[in-house]
Amino acid sequence: MPELPEVEVTRLSFAQRIANARIVRVRLGKPLRWPIGITPEALQGQHVLGVRRRGKYLLLDLDQGLLLLHLGMSGSLNFAPTQPEPGPHDHLDLVTNQGVLRLHDPRRFGAVVWAPSEDSPQAHKLLGHLGVEPLGAGFEPAAFHAALRQRRAPIKQVLLAGEIVVGVGNIYASEALFMARIRPTLRAHRLSRPRADRLHAAIVEVLARAVRQGGSTLRDFVSAEGKTGYFQLQAAVYGRAGQPCRACGTPIRSIVQGQRSTFYCPTCQKH
Ligand SMILES: [Zn+2]
Repeated sequence: MPELPEVEVTRLSFAQRIANARIVRVRLGKPLRWPIGITPEALQGQHVLGVRRRGKYLLLDLDQGLLLLHLGMSGSLNFAPTQPEPGPHDHLDLVTNQGVLRLHDPRRFGAVVWAPSEDSPQAHKLLGHLGVEPLGAGFEPAAFHAALRQRRAPIKQVLLAGEIVVGVGNIYASEALFMARIRPTLRAHRLSRPRADRLHAAIVEVLARAVRQGGSTLRDFVSAEGKTGYFQLQAAVYGRAGQPCRACGTPIRSIVQGQRSTFYCPTCQKH
């Protein structure tokens, strides 16, 4: 599943090239998670003013309103001068005078929704509940700690819920908790300020590193496959059950929390 770093790297892969492009034609494939909410004809002639990201949504600002794109479980976006004939899993072609943006999504949990503005009900339904951006100035240690104090759920699940801070998905939550030496099952409200500060720094570090790694390999994976893919995270704990902790050698443990696998080191990560 594309997580925040993959979505940010996807944004970086085409944001500059599509800027100020004029939409010539829009081809829609099979229905996605929600209806697009506008006719393809109404998009023709509009310009893509820029591409922003909010959580795991990409926001394409247009002359009138914006398109919100979500990659769902299996989506990928590719922007190229031309595209081959669309296949059965290609559900959007945004044909512009600067290239064609194509959404490929075999499982169709992705979404393309037009909204008249970011403050409209359509946009608010998708973006309104999102917590602060982990890589933005709004993610601040004191406020993070204060928000954690209000939650009694295990810290890992509080991070995954995305209501305090967005984009800390399953892999990155496990990795950040290891880096901060915090047991994933610890109840969020019990984190002291110093431990919350460590976790805050770890979240920023883990996500920023993933974006950097993705950015540095971007050219390779765009040109090789013709579409953006996932990049390899050098995981400390994620997916390493039974293997020795890189810090202390204790076998990494795997548990299930809220139907998601969690990995941690029972020696390094304290309750
Ligand atoms: Zn360890």
